[in-house]
Amino acid sequence: TSFGTNASRKVIATLESAGHDAVFVGGAVRDHFLDRIATDFDIATSASPIDIKRLFTVTVDIGIEHGTILVVLNGERIEVTTYRAGKTKLDNSQTHGTVFVNSLREDLQHRDFTINALALNLNGELIDLFEGVSDLQKRLIKTVGNPNERFKEDALRMLRAMRFSSVLGFDIDGATYMAIMQNANKLREVSVERIKIEMDKLWTGIESQRAIQSVSDSGLADYLPLFPRGVGSLMTCAPFNSTTEGWACLMLTGGFASSEIAKAYKLSNSEKAFLSDVERAFQSRCVRLYEIEDYYRFSLDVLIIAEKVFSILYPDEKHVSEKEIKKALLNMKIRSKEDLKVTGTDLINWRNERGGQWVGESLAKIESAVLHGKLANDMDDIKEWFLNDNKREE
Ligand code: ATP
Ligand code: MG
Repeated sequence: TSFGTNASRKVIATLESAGHDAVFVGGAVRDHFLDRIATDFDIATSASPIDIKRLFTVTVDIGIEHGTILVVLNGERIEVTTYRAGKTKLDNSQTHGTVFVNSLREDLQHRDFTINALALNLNGELIDLFEGVSDLQKRLIKTVGNPNERFKEDALRMLRAMRFSSVLGFDIDGATYMAIMQNANKLREVSVERIKIEMDKLWTGIESQRAIQSVSDSGLADYLPLFPRGVGSLMTCAPFNSTTEGWACLMLTGGFASSEIAKAYKLSNSEKAFLSDVERAFQSRCVRLYEIEDYYRFSLDVLIIAEKVFSILYPDEKHVSEKEIKKALLNMKIRSKEDLKVTGTDLINWRNERGGQWVGESLAKIESAVLHGKLANDMDDIKEWFLNDNKREE
């Protein structure tokens, strides 16, 4: 079988027929040698962005200033990038002054790590100018060229080294690691949006525990927003099942509020909502074991994460297993208001009265009674209970 998807191969063939050079590059080529399943088949080409757009019917400018065009072919999305030299060496701010270059060699030279600087052409020939395959075999993350210079050019690469070590389980080359220690403070100049993308990948890597240790040992942690000084508890929380679990554990082990983490790392609204739930579940868990109200309010993930961190921070306290949490959830009479066998309309009809504030209040009472097993979730039972209850109150 040949490398790439039909559509991505077609993109390269089309570029070549028009007289341009084009190759597969980056993550997909690396992952191919690691027998990892690649999803994004990125292409680098000598063609200019304008040429690329002319050659394909459906294209999207996703970073024309960086020379990247998204080509949509047979429903596939393929990123095609003009050979480039990356950011200018003058500054390390958010301005990405891209310099386009003529050769693949120059493009590869400006990529971050040797394992990411491999290219593969349509004939399956490998272009390995920086001993990338050798480093893949040694399982090493090593910069292309002088690590000090490369990190000065773009400080995010230091964090990328950590995230690749987490995702691939590779070691960081000695000189590369030393340069991270020396340049750690430059991470301050990197935008939080770029940091967030790498942290999300770091959290969910197979070796996140070791990567967190290295982030701390290398001094990078000192320049990450809201990172706990001691990462012992955070490491014990790893591995993480999701990116949000990583953020939640950072929050709880660091003693930060969900709003602080959300702001510092510009989390999305759904991430923010999840963290806020974990925060509240944890607060209630610090007071007592979970009760019916907690099982009712929070999702399984939220309860498990809050319990996990609680047991790590307070190992001597009694704690509940994942199995017990699941069992408690299964035993719940209802999981939400929607599960109630009656609605506000039923109450209005039974009482034959106009709707008003009383409907919500009565529903809340029914909800609580059902939740606590004082009333069966059954239309007739609820009706009787409701009508008698009303009589009692009158
Ligand atoms: P993943 O499988 O996680 O997407 P990837 O290697 O494809 O890994 P990307 O962040 O998608 O990583 O970047 C694609 C490629 O672009 C990299 O393999 C690397 O060659 C190059 N690259 C990305 N970011 C940088 C950077 N900051 N400096 C230099 N080269 C970079
Ligand atoms: Mg990629």
